[in-house]
Amino acid sequence: MTTFETRRGMFALPDGITYLDGNSLGPLPKTAVERARTAIADEWGPMLITGWNKAGWMDLPSRLGDRIGRLIGAPAGSTMVGDTLSIKVYQAVASAVELRPERKIVLSDNGNFPSDLYMADGLLRSLKQGHELKIVDPEAVSDHINEDVAAVLLTQVDYRTGRLHDMKAITAKAHTHGAIMIWDLAHSAGALPVDLTACNVDIAVGCTYKYLNGGPGAPGFIHVRPDLIDQVRPALSGWLGHEAPFAFDLDYRPGQGINRMRVGTPPVIQMAVLDTALDAFDGVDMNALRARSIELSEQFIGEVEATCKQVELASPRDPQARGSQVSFRFVEGYAAMQALIARSIIGDFRAPDIMRFGFCPLYNTSQDVSHAAAALCDIIATGEWDQPAFRTRKAVT
Ligand SMILES: *Cc1c(COP(=O)(O)O)cnc(C)c1O
Repeated sequence: MTTFETRRGMFALPDGITYLDGNSLGPLPKTAVERARTAIADEWGPMLITGWNKAGWMDLPSRLGDRIGRLIGAPAGSTMVGDTLSIKVYQAVASAVELRPERKIVLSDNGNFPSDLYMADGLLRSLKQGHELKIVDPEAVSDHINEDVAAVLLTQVDYRTGRLHDMKAITAKAHTHGAIMIWDLAHSAGALPVDLTACNVDIAVGCTYKYLNGGPGAPGFIHVRPDLIDQVRPALSGWLGHEAPFAFDLDYRPGQGINRMRVGTPPVIQMAVLDTALDAFDGVDMNALRARSIELSEQFIGEVEATCKQVELASPRDPQARGSQVSFRFVEGYAAMQALIARSIIGDFRAPDIMRFGFCPLYNTSQDVSHAAAALCDIIATGEWDQPAFRTRKAVT
């Protein structure tokens, strides 16, 4: 047993389920049920409003930010948890374009998650200052960075294919041309080693319900490089980002450092759950986790390709060039994934034809990989996917 497989017992994975979708929604940490119960029964119930001080609710966003900071190479006091990732993207882009007022381009790529593009586009439209959201191919991003670019907004790991951007090189290029670099770590945090400090990243955002296992609807996070934060004017200037929220001044003054990226009242119960979920990463060496994730994904590709010729690898073949997921294209990918789910093997599907499998060394084993690879090949070889029930699209794919 590897070091990581001993951590599998920390998760309440249902019997008989092979879970390869922790890149969409991490599984339930066993301690989460009790932690949610105590947050409700021992804190909210008896403490009532005094819980904000007594139970430390008010400090949860920054305390959790520091715990996540350790996993992404961010110094203490530079990461804040709260709101949803989409909101954090809005904050990041708003701050970035204000830092470069003479520039009118926000550059992103067509491998980005649509919500990031929608949020940026919506913001730029509201600004009405002639900004343009320029969307290019992922491979072409670097070539499009120039003196007109205010901000580069990229998701490090492509949600469909797992393709990994070179954070260090692109950030350096953005800085050479004076642009602000924003990285979305939705599929990176908890999945691979990230070193925001070494890469000199300006702003990073991410979510906590994927590889960080914070549960459905768990809040997002934002990091701003410490030497930059004092220049940042929060566009979402909520009262908890104010320098003195309880002074109830009528004018807004941004809070100290990263505190200004807070907006409103934090979801305490969800944050309590996230807090205990992050225990699974205590003592984890992210480089070792990455090595194990590569072993699992290489095994999956090898076993699928050895038997099943009808699918095509959609992820980069070089493991260093992909995150912690593997995607295969298959014309009837939606139906094939439904057939897999009917066999209790859970991955997911992304239009138009991508079957996506996430590998999380904290709880996935090489038996999970073999089981999923064999089932996928069997479902395709026998045409088991070709049933009306598997073709009917559900709301969430
Ligand atoms: C998962 C994901 C989101 C989702 O944003 P929410 O506001 O949490 O729904 C946004 N961007 C990226 C890159 C993602 O992977």
